[in-house]
Amino acid sequence: MTAATPVVTAVRLRVTGVVQGVGFRPFVHRLAARHSLGGWVRNAAGEVQIELEGAAQAIADFQSALRREAPPLARIEQVELEPLAPEGRTTFEIRSSTLDPARRQPVSPDVALCAACESELFDPQDRRYRYPFITCTDCGPRFTVIEAMPYDRERTSMRAFAQCPDCAREYRDPASRRYHSETNSCPRCGPRIWLEPNDRADEPIAAAAHLLRSGRIVAVRGLGGFHLACDATDESAVRLLRERKRREQKPFAIMVRSLEEARAQARITPAEAELLMSRERPIVLVRRAHDATVARAVAPGLDTVGVMLAYTPLHHLLLEEIGRPLVMTSGNASEEPIATANADAVRRLAGLADAFLLHDREITTRYDDSVLRVVREAPLFVRRARGYAPLPVDLPMSSPVPLVAVGAHLKNTFALVHGSRAWVSQHIGDLENLETLEHFQHTLADYKRLFRVRPDVAVRDCHPGYLSSRVAGELGCRRILLVQHHHAHIAAVLAEHGEPGPAVGIAFDGTGYGDDAQVWGGEFLVADLTECTRVGHVRYAPLPGGDAAARAPWRTARGYLSLEPWEAGALAPAFAAVDRQTLAVVDRQIATRLNAPLHSSMGRLFDAAAAILGVRAVAHYEGQAAMELEALAGDVAAPPLPFPARAAARGTWELDPLPLLVALGEAAGRGADRATLAAAFHESVAAGTADLAVRCAAERDLRTVALGGGCFQNTRLLEQVRRRLEQAGLRVLVPRRLSPNDGSISYGQAAVAAALLCQEAHP
Ligand code: ZN
Ligand code: ZN
Ligand code: FE
Repeated sequence: MTAATPVVTAVRLRVTGVVQGVGFRPFVHRLAARHSLGGWVRNAAGEVQIELEGAAQAIADFQSALRREAPPLARIEQVELEPLAPEGRTTFEIRSSTLDPARRQPVSPDVALCAACESELFDPQDRRYRYPFITCTDCGPRFTVIEAMPYDRERTSMRAFAQCPDCAREYRDPASRRYHSETNSCPRCGPRIWLEPNDRADEPIAAAAHLLRSGRIVAVRGLGGFHLACDATDESAVRLLRERKRREQKPFAIMVRSLEEARAQARITPAEAELLMSRERPIVLVRRAHDATVARAVAPGLDTVGVMLAYTPLHHLLLEEIGRPLVMTSGNASEEPIATANADAVRRLAGLADAFLLHDREITTRYDDSVLRVVREAPLFVRRARGYAPLPVDLPMSSPVPLVAVGAHLKNTFALVHGSRAWVSQHIGDLENLETLEHFQHTLADYKRLFRVRPDVAVRDCHPGYLSSRVAGELGCRRILLVQHHHAHIAAVLAEHGEPGPAVGIAFDGTGYGDDAQVWGGEFLVADLTECTRVGHVRYAPLPGGDAAARAPWRTARGYLSLEPWEAGALAPAFAAVDRQTLAVVDRQIATRLNAPLHSSMGRLFDAAAAILGVRAVAHYEGQAAMELEALAGDVAAPPLPFPARAAARGTWELDPLPLLVALGEAAGRGADRATLAAAFHESVAAGTADLAVRCAAERDLRTVALGGGCFQNTRLLEQVRRRLEQAGLRVLVPRRLSPNDGSISYGQAAVAAALLCQEAHP
């Protein structure tokens, strides 16, 4: 035996994760060749299987490179290794797939056009020059074309397009970037675009750009549905879009072609730039630049603007043609889900768009743009959809039975659970109309089919009247579990961090049905995944008009005034614009407690403060007053005003906002700077909140605090609460993989239900 002869060994690797339809097998082939290894690779249901034979060191090197150099869209979850007897194999081959329909595997989200495809798109020598559907294994649609798994062309909407000989050659060539690219096509064989109507009968993109430049509105069919587009720099075009969409003030997102164009409109930090450029290409909420050219009407009253970079080849072509930013808002009438099919869009958007830029690649699932912002260098979800769903979010335990959590009433998502895996759906919408309910049902059916989950148990909110509660009863599950809204918020944060608890939970949001049937929303909890105790809350006040108060901050302020009527002078500015008769009606509602439930909502407290500071008495969308208050506060420094906690019933604490609201009203009456007062309000809430949380943690000897609920999308509030808690030596958990708002309720419900079912199974 000579020392130079390497030891020949053989192994079988089983790789799970997002490893199919992402160029994984050709990558393995190249890697094996580089390390002089024999064997084969193949797709099997739920995994990729690899057999390797060769020098032990080469196999070890192969394994470390497998993770390090994996293709951009691959997400390796696990690699299982099993030794084999060497057979003397020296060549490596790609074998055909084996199918086992019982296995589950993740589906890749859609991702933005890759750099290689982008340069081909604008290369006059390339055969896909200016082809709006250029893709490769590293980019393009996935989830929005899949009908069933495993991911093969015949189970996608690309089935309708047979590949031409040139495309087929690339598809079969392991050296090509388009080897087994199921969306592969070219101008000769692939989907087409056209404009309706097209009077100029010329190139559809040029014609659409011409309309946009002249102030018209064009509906553009994209990956997961339609956008309504208009020239973002044209004030009157943006106003026309608002009028037609009946969306008076809610901010629109804009789309630009490059980071440089984004920088012309907004102040962008390095972390924000990274997020904008990521292959998920989300909408990122960034600070508007002082010399921005986009119309004020894009985001009235706010200091932020939602920006995204072009993510499909069609976007690149359109933006190149028009040469300025476009408003790109979801193609729907107000409150309805986004339109996806051509005929449906032309019918529903007829009064909204002047023309339709259509294509004939069918969209299998509705998929809104994701929205994030950056806090302390880390992304925070506002809406999780395109680019992120349907990747699963793991639970810290394995559920003994499959389950479905139907989520919240507003900003709904659902979660489908098998074992420790939770498939959290993309953003569905507000479950308040038939169209959104159908969207929910279709998408749930898709997820059940794709991920092969047949839920036994349904989980829902405690509110008896919500549509979601009814839906939970109609899913054919043998059992239904109820989870309180704010427990779900905190459980979602604990579960995504794998934190068993108990911890102090601060759940601040607009509305959630409380255990006492009142409106909760400013809650201090002590919770783990199975149990939850309310240890404190914002002082109760009547909420005249109930849910309607979300659109009328002055009503909420009126409710607070009823607690301390002698403070009428301080709170008066909130009601300046309201007529006497309406005031009388609301006062009667409060006095008789008819349609005036009690609330402890932090979201509504922000509304009341905005009304008292004269920022906004009537809102066009929920959260508008609070967002404007945050914008007004900006980075202005201000010391906190008193927001005291006092002992309330049954050993709980109560934060009393009256002294704070009165102090703000009096200072505003003296003519104090409103930005400073808005800043002082934020600081006061942060200080009062942190002080109470520190006290609750000390009382129970806890070290961890979890922050959840839509109010924590306010970055100043989130940062100030977090900073103060950390200064007190506490560990602070904030949502990372899901949003703090009601979009994460389904996951929280799933976590609580899974933990309860585990406890039952192993008492
Ligand atoms: Zn590509
Ligand atoms: Zn072709
Ligand atoms: Fe909530």
